[in-house]
Amino acid sequence: MSKVFVCKERSVGETRVAATPETVKKMVQAGLEVWVEKGAGDASNLPDKKYEDVGAKIITNSAEAWGQADVVLKVSPLSFNDQLAKPEAETLKDGAIVFGFMAPYANLDTVRTLAERGVTTLAMELIPRVTRAQSMDALSSQANVAGYKAAVLAAARLGKHFPLLMTAAGTIPPARVVIMGGGVAGLQALATAKRLGAIVEVSDIRPAVKEQVESLGGRFIDLPMEESGEGAGGYAKEMGEDFLRKQREIVKQHVAAADVVIATAQVPGKKAPVLVTADMVDAMRPGSVIIDLAAEQGGNCEFSKPDEEVNHNGVMILGPTNLAATLAHDASTVYSRNVLALFQLLLKEDGQIEIDTSDEIIEGTLLTHAGEIVHEPTAKQLQGVSA
Ligand code: NAD
Repeated sequence: MSKVFVCKERSVGETRVAATPETVKKMVQAGLEVWVEKGAGDASNLPDKKYEDVGAKIITNSAEAWGQADVVLKVSPLSFNDQLAKPEAETLKDGAIVFGFMAPYANLDTVRTLAERGVTTLAMELIPRVTRAQSMDALSSQANVAGYKAAVLAAARLGKHFPLLMTAAGTIPPARVVIMGGGVAGLQALATAKRLGAIVEVSDIRPAVKEQVESLGGRFIDLPMEESGEGAGGYAKEMGEDFLRKQREIVKQHVAAADVVIATAQVPGKKAPVLVTADMVDAMRPGSVIIDLAAEQGGNCEFSKPDEEVNHNGVMILGPTNLAATLAHDASTVYSRNVLALFQLLLKEDGQIEIDTSDEIIEGTLLTHAGEIVHEPTAKQLQGVSA
């Protein structure tokens, strides 16, 4: 019987877990033996007892589980494990399978170790965004949570109401929110800020976003697009500095009038575009709030720092890098469903596991397999490092 290990996440600020009692129950029913590290679900309010009730074995000595598991389920990239006193990647057995966000470009040494040890690594961020993979799309499920939380966080930090209030003491105008980047996180931030009563404007470079913004009650900030900003796979492409300068000029007046800016603009594999410059922040009123969800990729705002709060002349700039982890229960619930949906592609009769590399979803998600780094961009980066 194949053994699946759900480990406790140890990265700073990581509260999520890669399997919940709901998904463990389905794995047990599929004929798998499931081990859950003691306390793995605690930070998501999922106590050990709930896992035991659905047939999991609670593991206190995680070293044995790391070394014996056929499959390890993770959220954050494999890291140094204090309890094991070694990197987690070095504890896996030859031929083990790992699921999780791997942030491969930031963890090249780990990727090399995984390949050397013959580990099959399924990187959740690499899942192709095709219709058949929608139930596995962890980037979307977590961006949805982060977009919602960004709007709620902005509302909590702003010293003003979001909705229009007409009271005996007079009228309070609604807050103005500008969202940079109307992808999954940006559209959820729009929907949430609208529900709270704000006036919301969105800037994006992909033409499809205009209609989506308007259908959610937002206003789209039109840009002089000489060519579409749509790149491969429905993502944005990197725009030249000339275009970005024009975009900043147009967006500047909207930002100056805004109480809140929520920035989510990203281009896969590239540094995030700088869309909110120092002079734009200077033009904002004291007390305004900027939430920059691209802070880890360099930031959409010139002042943002990952996981720090910067006060620039009274404008608060927050750069949270893992907002999904602040809604641990729901983020874990949807993430673990994504993991299970991907895992089910590998599951055969009686809990047997087979890696069919001809399946486009599996092929696209593989980072390492059979001793090789199969994700070409990562392999190229590693060659560059060792050249
Ligand atoms: P993302 O996180 O890579 O980027 C966020 C947003 O930033 C995108 O909308 C992008 O266009 C925008 N952006 C980039 N440069 C910009 C700039 N200079 N100015 C303003 N905005 C800029 O993207 P995401 O949210 O992960 O996904 C983007 C899109 O991918 C989705 O909206 C959807 O169309 C597609 N998608 C498809 C599927 C599927 O088919 N299964 C699933 C998820 C997403």
